[in-house]
Amino acid sequence: MIKVSGLQKKFNDLQVLHHIDLEINKGEVVAIIGPSGSGKSTLLRCLNLLEVPEEGTVVIDDVVVNMRELAKKDMYRLRQKSAMVFQNYNLFKNKTALQNVIESLLVAKKMKEREAKVIGERLLEMVGLSGKFDNYPSMLSGGQQQRVGIARALAVEPYVILFDEPTSALDPELVGEVLNVMRSLADKDTTMIIVTHEMSFAREVADRVVFMADGKIIEQGPPEDIFTNPQNERTKKFLSQLS
Ligand code: ADP
Ligand code: MG
Repeated sequence: MIKVSGLQKKFNDLQVLHHIDLEINKGEVVAIIGPSGSGKSTLLRCLNLLEVPEEGTVVIDDVVVNMRELAKKDMYRLRQKSAMVFQNYNLFKNKTALQNVIESLLVAKKMKEREAKVIGERLLEMVGLSGKFDNYPSMLSGGQQQRVGIARALAVEPYVILFDEPTSALDPELVGEVLNVMRSLADKDTTMIIVTHEMSFAREVADRVVFMADGKIIEQGPPEDIFTNPQNERTKKFLSQLS
């Protein structure tokens, strides 16, 4: 499982995460919601050490990292446990869809190209991109690029996939195809943490919803409870402001 304890992150004098505690079980889908600037992205980035917290412990599966005594080896091991799907896809522009998906297999896992390609092609098929192996990102729609991003995340077989607003840069008509892929991953018991503005998706797919504000977890629970019967005033206010 995943266990975050006492996580604290500052940017200069700004405390962005205040003592975050969070536990997530294997196979669980957790949606993180909350106002802009509340620390949702920073929390995801701290889980795979794109940002390094000052304090706290992160456990993912069999890797335990205490931020106070962070060794290079631990950083590497923790990073291997998760994969991030970014809002803006972050694909290599000069690589094809297939090359993007297998890059980490070739570089980090030192896999033979032939072997990696078999895996990459299977994953691209799984996200509905069978005909697009050799397309460069510029020749793909935003929804297709994001599905390449998801295939790339899956390639390393991470313990957890971290999604940071994966559909917020997409034209509305392309959102559904990405959510469908995520829905099918959830059905296969993929462990996922999803920062999202898609409340109806969160409600349908998440096992648990976490509401964050001002760098704190304010409230969490099953989607039905959070969306229909929020307990905290901040949660009520946030949800009532959504159209
Ligand atoms: P959210 O994803 O919930 O919108 P973020 O985690 O992106 O929130 O940001 C939380 C706070 O941290 C914001 O006040 C933001 O301006 C600040 N912040 C985020 N990243 C950085 C950074 N690299 N340097 C300085 N401040 C940052
Ligand atoms: Mg964010």
